[in-house]
Parts: sequence; C-alpha cells; structure tokens
Amino acid sequence: MSVTLDTYRPLGGWVEKPDNPQPQLEAEVCADVIIVGAGFAGLSTALELAAHGAKVIVLEREFAGFGASGRNAGYLAGALGLEFDLFLKRVGREQAKKIVGFYDEGVAYVERKFGEYGIDCDYNASGIIRAGVHPSQEGKLREGMKTGIELGSPAQFLDQAEMRARGIPPAFLFGAYAQRGGTLDPGKYVMGLRRAALQAGVRVYENTALLSYAEGEIVKVQTARGSASAPFLVLATNAYTPQLGLLGGKVVPLRVSAIETEPLSEAQLAALGWPRREGIVTAHWTMESHRLTARNTLVLTTKRLHYVYGSQTPNVPDNAAYRELEVALHDRFPTLRDLAIRSCWSGYVSLAFDALPVVGETGAQRNVFYTAGCSGHGVGTQSLMGHLLAERIRGTEHPLLSALRHKTPSMLPEPLRWCAVNSALGMTNMLDGRVNRKVRAAAR
Ligand SMILES: Cc1cc2nc3c(=O)[nH]c(=O)nc-3n(C[C@H](O)[C@H](O)[C@H](O)COP(=O)(O)OP(=O)(O)OC[C@H]3O[C@@H](n4cnc5c(N)ncnc54)[C@H](O)[C@@H]3O)c2cc1C
Repeated sequence: MSVTLDTYRPLGGWVEKPDNPQPQLEAEVCADVIIVGAGFAGLSTALELAAHGAKVIVLEREFAGFGASGRNAGYLAGALGLEFDLFLKRVGREQAKKIVGFYDEGVAYVERKFGEYGIDCDYNASGIIRAGVHPSQEGKLREGMKTGIELGSPAQFLDQAEMRARGIPPAFLFGAYAQRGGTLDPGKYVMGLRRAALQAGVRVYENTALLSYAEGEIVKVQTARGSASAPFLVLATNAYTPQLGLLGGKVVPLRVSAIETEPLSEAQLAALGWPRREGIVTAHWTMESHRLTARNTLVLTTKRLHYVYGSQTPNVPDNAAYRELEVALHDRFPTLRDLAIRSCWSGYVSLAFDALPVVGETGAQRNVFYTAGCSGHGVGTQSLMGHLLAERIRGTEHPLLSALRHKTPSMLPEPLRWCAVNSALGMTNMLDGRVNRKVRAAAR
C-alpha cells in the first residue's frame, strides 16, 4: 500500500491558503446581505447580488474554498446518477421533472459563469459516463438511465463495443453517457469565484466564524471580534449547518474521501487510451469516481463514506477510505499498480434522506436563507443556487426554486441516527463488496 500519512493534505488536493488572505471582521458593519460560508453557494450568491448593486459581506470561518468546494472531484454533472427512486414517489413525476431540470441547468449555469467571470479551471466538456464494472450492474444502470430520460435528462447507453471504441479503460464494461457537463479543477473554479467576488466589491472576511445570530427585521450576527447586521442572512454553510443549530434533523454530513496519483508518464497515458477523458462514475450503490486531471494524474473519490457521531465534521484523515480507494485504483487500472499515491484528503457533503437539495428560509421575518443537501452533486447545483437565492432576496421567486420546495424527511435523533446511517452505509458496502469480489474472480 502506498497511501501514507505524509500524503495526507488537510486542505484537499486542489487549493492552498490564498496569498492575499482577507481580513477578519473586527468592527461593527452593516450590509444589505450577510452571507456565511465562501464555497460555490456563498460566493455565487454574493456575485449575483453584487451584480445588482447590493452591499454584500461574506463571513468565512477559514478561507474561501476551504470546504467541499475546494476538495471535490470536479465533476460538473447534471442529473446523471441521481437516485431517482429516493424522491420520485415522494414529490411526484411533475415536480421530479422540474428538479431534474434544476440539476441539468446547473451545468449550463456554471459553463456560462466561466466566461462571465473569466475563470480558467481546466474545464473539459467531455460529458460523464456512469459505468458498470460487472454485468450484474447493467439492470440497475439501465433502469436509472430510463427514468432519467423520462424525467427529461438525456443519456445514451454505451455497450462494450462502444466503450472500447471510445478508448475507455477496459474495467468499465458499459455505461450511461450524458453528453452534458465534464470535469474541471474545483480549486481553480472556487478561487476564480473568490477573485471575481473581490473584484465585484464583495467584502470577504476570512478567518471569521459566525458564532451566533439573532433574527429580526434586521438580522444581527456575532463573530469573535466583530458583529454585522443586515435585512437578510444567507447560511451557505452546507455540511456545517447543523453545527449552527439549523437543519440538524434534515441533513447529515458525510465524509467523502479522495486519492490522487502521481502524474502518469506519456507512455502510461498512451497505453491507457481514454482520449476524451470523460469523467467516470461507477454504478455501485456507493459510487467510485475515476478521472484524469489536466496535470495527468488520476483522481479517485467516494467508495467509502463516513458519518461522525453527532453530525461532527472533524478535518482529519480517513485512512480506511484511502486504502479502499487504492484498492479501487488497482482493481480498475491493474496496469498502473506501481503508480504511487501523491495525495489523499477528505471533505464533507450534506445528505438529506431523499437526497434532494434543502433550500429555503426561516425566522419570523423569513429573511434567514439556507442551502444544503445536494450531496455529491454540488458543483453545478450549489452554484446555481446562488442565482436562485439572489433573485429570491431581490423579490422574485425563480420557478426552479419553487420546484425545489418540498418536505424534506426528518432524521432520527442520536444515537438512533448514527445507527441508521451506519447500517445503511454498511449495507451498501456489503453489496458493493460482493460485486467487486465477482469482478476480481472473473479477472483471475
Ligand atoms: C471528496 C468530495 C468529492 C466531491 N465530488 C463532487 C463532484 O465531483 N461533483 C459535484 O457536483 N459535487 C461533488 N462534491 C460535493 C460538492 O463539493 C459540494 O456539494 C459543494 O462544494 C458544496 O458547496 P457549498 O458552497 O454549499 O459548501 P462548502 O464548499 O462546504 O462551503 C461551506 C463553507 O462554510 C464555511 N463555514 C462553515 N461554518 C462556518 C461558520 N460558522 N462561519 C463561517 N463560515 C463557516 C466552511 O469553512 C466552508 O468554506 C464532492 C465533495 C467531496 C467532499
């Protein structure tokens, strides 16, 4: 095993602390809107509001991009791979179509913003393939693809011959291909949003945690050394939101891990094929994601998720998850067994039991907004959420925001929650393990 503690990166594999850190909030300030959290959601909301002349301040506990936005796999994906069964019956077909439309619109929104904000983040509009690694996965994959198409999200089935013709590595047998979207460098994307926000006059206070807030017509927020007030507050804190006393019964933070290899040599790349470098996710219950980066490394994520008791989000290594990902690397790319792991990291997404976004407003004045959920689909969706929330604050409800409004199922309290989440994760690990053993047996 080549995953070692010295490959662990506490800030993830894409970002460093910025060399122009923004000041802490140390005074009493007023604004039109206060946003807490500087990831895709917070920065996009800030940019949309600033474009209409609003005075916006952003409070970020660490630095912009510290959360999942700076740690993800960089798949800008639409609705491909959504677990439609988790929400279709709950919301009904018509609303499900609109929700699927929201996911797909997230891709187009982000693609537009690259040009608008001048962000170069190595975007490769390759499309995404949800691939099977064993024939037993074909039924579920086809079923999911069929439901997605019925709900308005186009995809095409690729059989073995078509996968080989595309040069996809042979471990991926067949797949559902969505032309929409592709892969990017999430660190460059989130830092591009940060730069654009600063240029637009947004005041970003870094190293500034929100400690508490008091509702009212004017919301007042307290930080360690300062305070701020505004008619609107947006909590764009995603997986960290339960720690602020909100959404604890609606979403759980799940730790998602990643490994990145050293760069492949020219010879290794040539032998690998994969000329279009489509982002690949597998059809496991807990997917594996496999992609090539612009720096010619392989990044693998997910496979093993982790829930920490009490919805905590410690920034710590998850060695068991890194080892599992390395096993996946060897299983799917047996010819690259000697490729060393150059870094590994973890971050937190938030998951509702119906796997849908959790967005809305709270407080007697309905002026405290929140956005969470989106689990592993936040690159497009949490960016687009900025547009929807900004419009709502400016007085118009976007139809896509209306489409997202639904009753999120409630979670059990602890310790039952811990037991339920871990039982579900244990079950999916067992089912996926069975498939992986069959794949290895077939390869021997
Ligand atoms: C390993 C991994 C792989 C993933 N892969 C993909 C992928 O390929 N495609 C995809 O679409 N999605 C993916 N995701 C999910 C995606 O990254 C997230 O859904 C998205 O980044 C969430 O953005 P956000 O702005 O809502 O939250 P975040 O980026 O988490 O931002 C929240 C911010 O709030 C700050 N904060 C928290 N508490 C406070 C406080 N009290 N005061 C001030 N600030 C605070 C945090 O420091 C953080 O910066 C992945 C996630 C992970 C971890």
